Amino acid sequence: MYNSKSPIAEEFICDSEVLKTIEYARANKNNYELLEQILNKAADYKGLTYQEAAVLLECDDEEYLNKMFALAEQIKEKIYGKRIVMFAPLYLSNYCINGCVYCPYHKKNCNIARKKLSQEEIVKEVVALQDMGHKRLALETGEDPVNNPIEYVLESIKTIYGVKHKNGSIRRVNVNIAATTVENYKKLKDAGIGTYILFQETYHKPTYESLHPTGPKHNYAYHTEAMDRAMQGGIDDVGIGVLFGLYEYEYDFVAILMHAKHLEDTFGVGPHTISVPRIRPADDVDVKEFPNAISDDKFKKIVAILRIAVPYTGIIISTRESQKSREEVLKVGVSQISGGSSTSVGGYVEKETENTAQFEVNDERSLDEIVNWLLSLGYIPSFCTACYRAGRTGDRFMRLAKTGQISNVCQPNALMTLKEYLEDYASPETKANGERVISEEVNNIPNAEVKRLVLEHLADLTKGQRDFRF
Ligand code: SF4
Ligand code: SF4
Repeated sequence: MYNSKSPIAEEFICDSEVLKTIEYARANKNNYELLEQILNKAADYKGLTYQEAAVLLECDDEEYLNKMFALAEQIKEKIYGKRIVMFAPLYLSNYCINGCVYCPYHKKNCNIARKKLSQEEIVKEVVALQDMGHKRLALETGEDPVNNPIEYVLESIKTIYGVKHKNGSIRRVNVNIAATTVENYKKLKDAGIGTYILFQETYHKPTYESLHPTGPKHNYAYHTEAMDRAMQGGIDDVGIGVLFGLYEYEYDFVAILMHAKHLEDTFGVGPHTISVPRIRPADDVDVKEFPNAISDDKFKKIVAILRIAVPYTGIIISTRESQKSREEVLKVGVSQISGGSSTSVGGYVEKETENTAQFEVNDERSLDEIVNWLLSLGYIPSFCTACYRAGRTGDRFMRLAKTGQISNVCQPNALMTLKEYLEDYASPETKANGERVISEEVNNIPNAEVKRLVLEHLADLTKGQRDFRF
């Protein structure tokens, strides 16, 4: 029985409700009257139900698809402005006791070199990341209570926050580790993490169980209910995601929106972010074995409708995506991207000599190249980490986001952190382009007092001061 407030996975992601929703959407395929109603409702920036979003997903009428893309762009512009937040993944260890068939870190893969960073090696990786200009990391590690216990993760977070190299510092560490206990989530909260990220991979239980045949991750309920435990542990910014291509995309699309609704209905706070990775080739993983892999067109449609359905949730894509595909989805919804990423353990210090990567990177450009590219597309690359440091998390963040006030701080913070990047790390070409964008965009700050302060801080940044934020 479907119950969005139930603590039980199979009740808040109810299989029969997902199937009923897909059936309803198919019965209303290209129902223009209904499509108009849904798009009109969405234009108020209040989001959509999963049923309404499913009707949009089913539509294949080009005129309406273009209307959806235009609306998604409009919503993105209104809520997020031009800023695109930058981050990098940091892989700590690829030891893993799970058997996920789509991931080369799975336990039985003997081709891959197993590696776990020592604290000294973490310092070196962080220095390399700081030298690129990164301020925000997503920590990644396989599940292995012997090699990667929670104490190791906590010690690593402390190490990362402690590295101060030249003007560099990591100001926000998001953590993507296996589902764990309320007690461990409390420890992560106390360690000062930003967002706790855990991908569901697929919400379709039989597929989930067959793709995770062994290890603790096999337990669908424990994995699916992880965000509830994270919230109970005090982490109020959680990031969800599915690996599109593992199962039918319509199913996972409806289910991820049901998960968002469950969090909102139960805790009063929806997901902080949604990640939209797609299945990619890797060692011991053949994409041909995944007939549900999705095309670029479907991918763009999914991102656009997510933007429309959950306007206040950040959407993240990684370097799994090519430059071309990233450009498409940035327009219609993505608000956070990784850049200059290594998906190998220790890969920022040493280029890979042994194969330790989790997936093949499709966008291999440096962070500087990506920053310059974003500038050329009219975006403001942002290294902002202000909200979590100012205590604007969970419902406090959502209140600001829903009233549209967040853009009053996002844009100024984007300009000041971009300036910091230009001063310390940019190539001459990127610096020139960035300075031009800053001088144009600063005039678009609507509040006179905020504008005055930003101009003052920009001048201070030129003189060597750092780390201003609203
Ligand atoms: Fe381990 Fe995560 Fe890879 Fe599964 S997806 S094998 S849990 S690292
Ligand atoms: Fe993100 Fe908050 Fe910075 Fe905006 S102000 S970019 S929401 S951290």
